[in-house]
Amino acid sequence: MEEIKRILDSEILPGVLKPLRYVGNEYNAVKKDWSAVKLRSLFAFPDLYEVGMSHLGLSIIYHLVNDQPGYLMERVFAPWTDMEKALRERNIPLFSLESCRPIADFDCIGFTLQYEMSYTNILNMLDLGRIPLRSKDRNDDYPLIMGGGPCASNPEPIADYFDFFVLGEGEEAILEVFELISRHRLERGGRQDKRTLLKELARLEGIYVPAFYEPVYLAGGVLKEIRVIETAAPSRVVKRVVRDLDEAYFPLNPIVPYIEVVHDRVMLEVLRGCTRGCRFCQAGMIYRPVRERSRALLEKQAEKLVAGTGYNEISLTSLSTSDYTCVESLVKGLLDKYEKEKVGVSLPSLRVDSFSLELARQVQRVRKTGLTFAPEAGTQRLRDVINKGVTEEDLLEVTAAAFHAGWTQIKLYFMIGLPTETTADLDGIAELARRVLRSGLEILREKSGSRQPKITVSVSSFVPKAHTPFQWEAQDNLHRLREKQQYLKERIRDRRIAYHYHQAELSLLEAVFARGDRRLSAVLMKAWQKGCKFDSWTEHFNWQAWLEAFREEGIEPAEIACSARNYEDVLPWEHLDMGVTKKYLWQEREKAYQTAVTGDCRFESCVLCGVCQVLEVDKVLKSEGKSHAASN
Ligand code: SF4
Repeated sequence: MEEIKRILDSEILPGVLKPLRYVGNEYNAVKKDWSAVKLRSLFAFPDLYEVGMSHLGLSIIYHLVNDQPGYLMERVFAPWTDMEKALRERNIPLFSLESCRPIADFDCIGFTLQYEMSYTNILNMLDLGRIPLRSKDRNDDYPLIMGGGPCASNPEPIADYFDFFVLGEGEEAILEVFELISRHRLERGGRQDKRTLLKELARLEGIYVPAFYEPVYLAGGVLKEIRVIETAAPSRVVKRVVRDLDEAYFPLNPIVPYIEVVHDRVMLEVLRGCTRGCRFCQAGMIYRPVRERSRALLEKQAEKLVAGTGYNEISLTSLSTSDYTCVESLVKGLLDKYEKEKVGVSLPSLRVDSFSLELARQVQRVRKTGLTFAPEAGTQRLRDVINKGVTEEDLLEVTAAAFHAGWTQIKLYFMIGLPTETTADLDGIAELARRVLRSGLEILREKSGSRQPKITVSVSSFVPKAHTPFQWEAQDNLHRLREKQQYLKERIRDRRIAYHYHQAELSLLEAVFARGDRRLSAVLMKAWQKGCKFDSWTEHFNWQAWLEAFREEGIEPAEIACSARNYEDVLPWEHLDMGVTKKYLWQEREKAYQTAVTGDCRFESCVLCGVCQVLEVDKVLKSEGKSHAASN
């Protein structure tokens, strides 16, 4: 530990980019005495420090664990390639930020799984930490490797590398997990019997131990069933859920990084879940039901967070902040209170309807931030197919209001390759962008005469995700995606409209890992051995290496991503229960093909998605500051 620190300080850090990524010691970071705790854990973020330190989940879990006297949690992030090179050259293992200890010294390492394209970084970090990659190759002396986060809802492509996964909201389970591990070790004089420990963990609600389940295949790689091979393991693992956000832990003294990170501001979580019901959206399905935090509590939290960090911006985070039933009064209250101190409020994304006008007007009182809207599709027909309850009038009204309020830059998010899409839907994207531009030109001309609107159209490709109504749908093949991207480029020929699109190969790979099965473990290993890492970083993405890895393992990526599935097909994640029922998802898929929309259960009656019944939980709305668990 001391030796690592000495070499770091004297030889490595002076020569790498942004050395502050690796030194820890930030304001509010927690350093605990190793000898005074019964369990030492590590939060591992498989991407750069700047990305990981913007992740609210890290902050919640890190401070929750460290607030317990018996446990400690430190952090590690994926080292950038220059740092990795320096570590390998000097034979230094990957180490934690807080104590500079090799990561293999910890009892338990938890990787957060935010994005499929970070999987190669997980292997790279384990390797740099001198930890055998596959669970079966790690004996009792190695740390337990656990995973959580949205991608844990289908962890099959990485199942071989993990000892267990936590399904659902981590803060609900983590202390139970640590208590169980600590007790197990205490009873064995500080050692662990991994097999027995995993059996004990498998009995905890929400814990999935993949080694206790075996996929059985028919000829041609078709999944026949997922067989439970250990009696301690349940046939279905049900996710964990926080019932009441007002009672849930929230860190009030989060770490303040020394360097600029992606979201460098106070993050105030106003609600969890979204029941708008967009049919492509995984977060909207797996984080149900909606649970709001009360305004009074949020105001108290904001006060402590601003005082405890010195930030001058409060971001109201959630999947859909403008849907928070107290958003107007919360925003107004925060702005009134912090206006003199020049602390602004920001909303990460606005819906294209309802309060957006008023919110936009209020938020700009202190500081103007860019405005982003996500109509997702170019025509009303396709917006109905995906259940995006937004009309063209909504978009034009809200963007006009934004131009009136002084904004000039509007970003519009769309998706191509959605089920049932036609050329008319692509034309619709270009036309919508032009109409927003025209409206901006008129309004700004009247207002100021000289300022020009700037519209950015950002287009991603549809990725079928597990646990969504579109989990059975085919992704467009690479050729089609590229063709559509080029077609749109031709249609948007106006220098006042910037056009960006995502790399099609990356979207294909994302789909492969989003709905793939355990056979992909071998492909992942091959790709990593060929040098793949930081795949979501354009400069590192090596499509040829991935193609070779697939070829060598005899797997055709398009077969996984670009073929449709039937209701009867066994999907790799069917034993993992996120609450929303398969029957409901299929009904939603059928409604998509009938262009029929489904309402939001916050404002209309329950549509029986299943989550409240399966998890015995209620949606919680706090309108008018009154807490009430809405009945179903
Ligand atoms: S079960 Fe009903 S009330 Fe609960 S989230 Fe689903 S649709 Fe909404």
